[in-house]
Amino acid sequence: MKLTFPHLGNVGLPLRMMLEQAGAEVVMPPPNSKRTLSLGTKYAPESVCLPFKLTLGNFIEALEQGADTIFMANGPGRCRFGFYGEVQQRILRELGYQFTMLQVNTSEHVLQNILRALRTISPGLSWLQAGQAFRLGYTALQAVDMLEKELHRVRPREKEKQAASRIFQSVMDRLQRVKTIPEIRAVRDCGLQQLRRVPVNETPVLKIGILGEIYVVLEPFVTADIERRLAEMGVEVSKFLYPSDWASFNFFIKALKVFPEHGTAAAAAKPYLNYAVGGEGLKTVGQTVLCAQQDYDGVIQLYPFTCMPEIVARHMLPRIQEDLQIPILTLGVDEHTGAAGLQTRLEAFVDMVSRRKAAKCGK
Ligand code: SF4
Repeated sequence: MKLTFPHLGNVGLPLRMMLEQAGAEVVMPPPNSKRTLSLGTKYAPESVCLPFKLTLGNFIEALEQGADTIFMANGPGRCRFGFYGEVQQRILRELGYQFTMLQVNTSEHVLQNILRALRTISPGLSWLQAGQAFRLGYTALQAVDMLEKELHRVRPREKEKQAASRIFQSVMDRLQRVKTIPEIRAVRDCGLQQLRRVPVNETPVLKIGILGEIYVVLEPFVTADIERRLAEMGVEVSKFLYPSDWASFNFFIKALKVFPEHGTAAAAAKPYLNYAVGGEGLKTVGQTVLCAQQDYDGVIQLYPFTCMPEIVARHMLPRIQEDLQIPILTLGVDEHTGAAGLQTRLEAFVDMVSRRKAAKCGK
């Protein structure tokens, strides 16, 4: 069995570790590229959301490289995501590819579903071994997110441009080569130390929250690496959507059925939207309110054009902007989005946010 799965930011590394530990041979699709996007766009329904097109492109490229099994998340929901697996399977079969698709329900009983999937991939695997493979992947996922958060803190302040990015990349390369939990922790701690030692400027930076649809927020190819672009403009970003946070919630907290409401995005969203609209729509609204309450300098909403949950959220944002006086930029992306246009809009927004902050501080 040669297993593949779609790209989603830095999630590929922990996922590959887990699957290989479980005994699978993994075929990573080539990194997202113009070719990936044009393949997905060519064969996907025209009006479907961008993540569908890119993940379809990933599957085609991985099948071309010999993969025979696709590992794909699914789950009933209020948006198109619930149909991805079925529709993509049909398209790929019509194109003549032969493969098996292993779909894992990520909307409930996520941990059990993952362990069961690992045992399907490697039939001889015991529950204990499946649990060990899961633990390895989960530890790596947490490590990657910790490193990324530190990268976001250091990068806008660094004295030498690209210093933090270079360290982050070399740590990610080292993580690719380790095989055990103590090794992951050692690489993580060493990487955190290296990032913390990067010489930084002491001048204050702008703080902007990045919210929106999870795939677009996590996958840098889609937004021409918006986080790096903002950091180069002296902006510290907070993402609020980290895979390890999602995993902790869905693996453990949800299973305990204890949902503290106070201080959550859902509670903060209530004056503007008081029900789930699918995807991260409710969270986008609520977290924007929380950003305003926590004195963020601005918020950027990222979403694929035609994404229903984020379109609902987008319609609430002007009211929040007016009520709570927080600048908000909404950026829709599709296969025609270019880096130059994105850069221009970011520069204009950051300039406005920075002038506004200076005026507030009486400078
Ligand atoms: S959240 Fe939006 S972009 Fe993501 S799958 Fe659903 S409709 Fe598509």
